[in-house]
Amino acid sequence: MKPHKIAVIPGDGIGVEVIAEGLKVLQAAGQKAGVSFDLEQFPWGAGYWLEHKVALPPDALDILGRFDAIYLGAVGLPDQVPESVGVGQVVLGIRSGFDQFANVRPVQPVGGCPWYLQHRKSEDIDFVVIREATEGFYCNIGGRYAPAAAEVADIIPMRPAFVRSKEIALQTGVFSEFGCRRVIRYAFELARRRDGRKRVTSTTKSNALTHAMGMWDQIFEQVAGEYPDCEHEWAHVDALAMRFITNPERFDVVVASNLFGDILTDLSAVLVGGLGFAPGGNLSETGPSMFEPPHGSAPDIAGKGIANPIAAILTAAFMLECLDELEAAGLIRRAVALVVEAGEVLTPDAGGTATTEQVGDAIATMLQQ
Ligand code: ATP
Repeated sequence: MKPHKIAVIPGDGIGVEVIAEGLKVLQAAGQKAGVSFDLEQFPWGAGYWLEHKVALPPDALDILGRFDAIYLGAVGLPDQVPESVGVGQVVLGIRSGFDQFANVRPVQPVGGCPWYLQHRKSEDIDFVVIREATEGFYCNIGGRYAPAAAEVADIIPMRPAFVRSKEIALQTGVFSEFGCRRVIRYAFELARRRDGRKRVTSTTKSNALTHAMGMWDQIFEQVAGEYPDCEHEWAHVDALAMRFITNPERFDVVVASNLFGDILTDLSAVLVGGLGFAPGGNLSETGPSMFEPPHGSAPDIAGKGIANPIAAILTAAFMLECLDELEAAGLIRRAVALVVEAGEVLTPDAGGTATTEQVGDAIATMLQQ
């Protein structure tokens, strides 16, 4: 079988450390399941910027476009490189360059991970959060205006505080009919493929954000009509955040716009044991998708060899699932579950004393058994 071509961008800080273990486990799973990879590493990121004054070379998207998938660690050296350069050029540049519209975060805790819910067990929870990742309030449209500016002339009289302010900032959310429909359809398609409940929960706030979320709700109902085999429901984002904690077992697929999804996905990371255990990916329908653990480069622990590689390892499993290599993905998930459950080789964030490398080795070894 043809090898899967994977571009690897370890990035900065703990990104480099966790991707090394992710690759170790990916290759072990590939060997066992008869799947081969054509891996190429790229040194891009904030560190690259320090030397080259660009975080990505100008032809980066052309190069990456030839791969089946991108496996990214984490980007950023906050004390040395502005975030707009590291994260902005690399992560956001690749996401927007390949129109990776769906940020997908599986919420499947492994037994034995750090656990924060007294009233639920890890096996009760198995859902996915899908965040629209290209529009909404993250389009960077708006500005900061003096009260006399024409842009705010109609707005100033609306509230007493506006009238008394020296400056007014506007941040405009942009929601396209196509963009909302595309991500909502993706959620229903995923629900259809998953075992079990086939239920899509839409996150909204149309009682306050009437224009944007009003349109979102309408599109959600229309798309739901195309999937009569799936249940659908909606909840305002504030209520949904509470239910993530009180009733996480009721969810199957949750779909959210960019800002709400950003917050809910970090909340969902807590449900799998923290950032060290949370996998993620940015999916495209027209170019390569990018798989990255949602954690950052974590400068506070970088270089100490104690970063938890499990988020990156589960991200590799998620990548394999998206490449339709279900057997290899299953081998990784099983090995991670057995190592975490045993509780003997865990990094300090999970209550252990093991190093990043020891956890990677333990999972790769378990995979062979
Ligand atoms: P960003 O600003 O891009 O979100 P960051 O690295 O500053 O990135 P987070 O990724 O949100 O921050 O992580 C917050 C903290 O959680 C880190 O500083 C680190 O202490 C801890 N952390 C994150 N990922 C891991 C991991 N894989 N293993 C252990 N601890 C982690």
